[in-house]
Amino acid sequence: MHSTDHGNKAIITCAITGVLTDPGQHHVPVTPEQLAQEARRAYDAGAAVVHVHFRNQEPGKGHLPSWDPQVARDCVQAMREACPGLIINQTTGVVGPNYQGPLDCLRATRPEMAACNAGSLNYLKVRSNGTWAWPPMLFDNQPAKVKDFIDVMLETGTLPEFECFDVGIVRCVEMYVQTGMYTQGLPEYNFVMGVESGMPADPDLLPILLKLKIKDAPWQATVIGRSEIWPVHQRVAELGGHLRTGLEDTFYLPDGTKAESNGPLIEKLAEYARNAGREVASPQEARGMLGLREAGMPQEVAALAGRFPDFPLRDGDSA
Ligand SMILES: [Zn+2]
Repeated sequence: MHSTDHGNKAIITCAITGVLTDPGQHHVPVTPEQLAQEARRAYDAGAAVVHVHFRNQEPGKGHLPSWDPQVARDCVQAMREACPGLIINQTTGVVGPNYQGPLDCLRATRPEMAACNAGSLNYLKVRSNGTWAWPPMLFDNQPAKVKDFIDVMLETGTLPEFECFDVGIVRCVEMYVQTGMYTQGLPEYNFVMGVESGMPADPDLLPILLKLKIKDAPWQATVIGRSEIWPVHQRVAELGGHLRTGLEDTFYLPDGTKAESNGPLIEKLAEYARNAGREVASPQEARGMLGLREAGMPQEVAALAGRFPDFPLRDGDSA
């Protein structure tokens, strides 16, 4: 680990289920068994990381999120058992001032990675008839909230993945480093493109975002939408970014057919990496590239050895 041996390999993340999609309408996993099965399909297709949301486990309520630490534990354990070495990246996204649930879930599962929503965004969408698709909503991520997540992730040995929904948020990540809010080495950026009121899924935006992020910091793009997302993924692969897709981000393959599982989406992304002359990183390689603890390492040791602020982290990750 911590070497340049992995060259320019691409780390693939599979976002296997998402926030609110109805399992009655789409093939999104809900139970620990279903999550394990989908994680395995993604893992077999080349995913090193699984980004996961937890759902309400009561019958008929699987479209709703859950912040029950026991549900989180059961889901993470099932995925780890199905996929040796798999890296878990869990959601923390919640609207409003009460975010104890996500903090409790981080402490319950101590994942290797977690989403850290790096700024606020008005979440808006307009239907073709000119009405709001849902009541206009603020996804509030003020600096104090961001800091609380960063601090708990430091405690749990978790690498924050800074979710950037807009151009200004990309710039804010550097401010978190400058002010000492984030002290764990180079931040990992996730450019979230395709949210209607955020950054568009436009490959031409990528070079600008790369100018705005901290030099040498690892990055990936989450691209939300239908077939228009795929040219963006291809450009990300060409520009050296890491790759993410999954049923959270799209239901559609490049040819417009609907994916019934995460497997075909990840296979396609792996193909895009190879088109760009890059191999796909194994979970073990991804751990080295991102400075994550080894699979199965006790959390207490990991907190000291892997993610301690003074430890030289990710010195050669994307070289
Ligand atoms: Zn998510």
